[in-house]
Amino acid sequence: MSVGLTFIFCGLCISTIICAVYFSKKRIKSYETTLYGYLAIVNFIGLILELACGVVYGIKGVPTFVLDILVKGYMIFLIGWAFLFMYYVIINAHPNYEKKRKKLQSITDVIFFGIVIVLLLLPITHVNEGGNTYATGASVNFTYICTIILVVIMLLLCVFNIKKFNNKKILPVITFLCLGIVTTLVQLNNPELLITTAMEAYVIFIMYFTIENPDMKLIEDLNIAKEQAEKANHAKTEFLSNMSHEIRTPLNAIVGFSQSLMEEELSSSAKEDVRDIIMSSNNLLELVNGILDISKIEANKLEIANVEYDSNKLMREVVSLTKARMASKALEFRIDIDPTLPQVLYGDHSRIKQIMINLLTNAVKYTKEGYISLCVSSVIQNDICRLIISVEDSGIGIRQEDIDKLFTKFQRFELEKNITTEGTGLGLAITKSLVELMNGKIVVQSKYGEGSKFTVSIDQRIVPKSADELIVTDEVNASPFSAYGQKVLVVDDNSVNLKVANRLLKDYKVEIDLLDSGQACINKILDGEHYDLILMDIMMPKMKGTEALKHLKNIIGFNTPVVALTADAISGMKERYISLGFDDYLAKPINKDHLHAVLKKYLKEAKKPEGYTDSNNDEDNSTTSRNIETLKKYGVDVAHGLELLGDLETYDMTIDEFYNQFNDKMSQIANFKKNGDLSSYAILVHSLKSDSKYLGFSKLAAISFDHEMASKEGDIEFVTEHYQELVTEANKIYNIVKEYIGE
Ligand code: ADP
Repeated sequence: MSVGLTFIFCGLCISTIICAVYFSKKRIKSYETTLYGYLAIVNFIGLILELACGVVYGIKGVPTFVLDILVKGYMIFLIGWAFLFMYYVIINAHPNYEKKRKKLQSITDVIFFGIVIVLLLLPITHVNEGGNTYATGASVNFTYICTIILVVIMLLLCVFNIKKFNNKKILPVITFLCLGIVTTLVQLNNPELLITTAMEAYVIFIMYFTIENPDMKLIEDLNIAKEQAEKANHAKTEFLSNMSHEIRTPLNAIVGFSQSLMEEELSSSAKEDVRDIIMSSNNLLELVNGILDISKIEANKLEIANVEYDSNKLMREVVSLTKARMASKALEFRIDIDPTLPQVLYGDHSRIKQIMINLLTNAVKYTKEGYISLCVSSVIQNDICRLIISVEDSGIGIRQEDIDKLFTKFQRFELEKNITTEGTGLGLAITKSLVELMNGKIVVQSKYGEGSKFTVSIDQRIVPKSADELIVTDEVNASPFSAYGQKVLVVDDNSVNLKVANRLLKDYKVEIDLLDSGQACINKILDGEHYDLILMDIMMPKMKGTEALKHLKNIIGFNTPVVALTADAISGMKERYISLGFDDYLAKPINKDHLHAVLKKYLKEAKKPEGYTDSNNDEDNSTTSRNIETLKKYGVDVAHGLELLGDLETYDMTIDEFYNQFNDKMSQIANFKKNGDLSSYAILVHSLKSDSKYLGFSKLAAISFDHEMASKEGDIEFVTEHYQELVTEANKIYNIVKEYIGE
């Protein structure tokens, strides 16, 4: 057998094995795997045609036109294979190619058919040299030249798209292409060798074991699917947390306003309505907090914050809250708390309280008559106290078949019976997760129609202290104290936020400095300025609060406490910012009680020194001629603005700032959008959202919020599509403000 035929036989063996193995296996269907399948089949047909040419050449007297047809058919397959391989390279070099596939394919189809026509028209000669018959002539040379050109194009595609190329594939593909050039050149100079198609079979064989193995691809695709599912889950969690945070803020306002309404002189029916509003808002708040807890648990972001606490105080709080909840029911409340419980324990008391309240609330909710009981006992071993908390009731009980599903979120049973019982089906799911987070256990015993008993056991460390030695940290409804002679710096790129902080701090009689960037803060400290406390915003352009803090910490002698200021609910957890080096954390909008607790911790109470003049009350009153009705008539929620900013004077100063910075801010927003710089865009729309919230521009605040969320997620399509809406609303507000301030 001639050398050429030997190569073809080897190629055919390889090709047959690969086709048999590949097509008998379960595969993932994608454009890429389909292409690989075509490559294998076209190669197999090419080899058969090449073999047919070899065999027919060996038969004497075969008419030349038969030889022409066979050889040209073979050459068409050769070029077809090269085109298929080019598609394979393109799809890997451009993962987005799928979208443009149709367009590109129609162009390449035209080129391919053009080449085929030229090939058919060009002459071919059949030569017999020393017993070896092979084809030569213009059409053969043309085939090889086309193949080499295609291979070079593919090489260039690989090199220029090296970053986009799937990492695992770039090396094998470039190797195959180089091998392709070498083989084609060898074949061109030694036409009797017939190695091109055999080499293709070899390439397909190697590809199978390196990059196209269906098992490997299956695993690869599973990994991609897993990654996507994790990403989607993460997005869902972020969304839920952000939403819960956004809902909580107005809800707090509803509860707050309703509570102050209750203190007004109201008719009894109005009082009843207000009571209903408060109850419903509290239920909604509970639901939102539940969703926030569940999403944190699912994202593994819920951390247990252990502190020393007074166990008796915890029990007292739980009992009094439960008594308040069962006020409208004629139930007996049996309490049996171990009197030998260690006074001070170390653990997360607020989560233990949440667990106990969840179980007791359920007991109250699902018991019409009879009793509910709380029994707390302890088992002490060395310095560990195992708390055993049982909550029992004589309520409706749970069916045996429902017990397994009890801790699944959103599961509620006996819906017909409980039609009037409020609930979300989240309580027990959260309870179980919390117990497990604290390495505890929860068990349920229940008899349908007779009652249920939930028992939780959690280990807590015993602290050998008496409760009197504990520092009490939570202070509610505290009124401002004077801290004369102390200096507080607030750093925030948003002037409205600065004004709000200024307004809240003024009551504490401290000296206040306001700066709009982390860099300005660093410069101040480098200039030798000393502060007693710094409140630092996190989300600032150019330099984030976390980065500014790093620089500050590197300044020798810097020891001022720095408190993180952020509106980001999910990443704004106290523990996270403390782990980043901040001394404390304050959520925005700033809650007066939280600010008070922070100031109490870091400032000293100090009386007014002799001859001291207040420097923080120097605002001018040049804005009094303005008529607030102008804003109200356009639907601006001035009342909300005044509630947040305290008084009309601060509101006016804030609106001036908004007006002065408007054009600059909007043109920067436009630039960031144009340049696709979505992270800077997010910072500015975030700032626009804050301004709008404080000033009562509700619609602009909502639109900016959508843009902030979209830009944070890199959703350029949303930003582009809704950009005009943002600009139109912003300009509308600008004109209203212009009219108000009389410019
Ligand atoms: P929900 O907000 O609905 O109370 P939970 O997760 O706390 O959500 O409870 C899930 C379901 O388990 C409840 O809807 C109720 O059907 C059942 N359940 C929970 N505690 C009790 C109990 N003490 N007695 C009877 N059924 C209960």
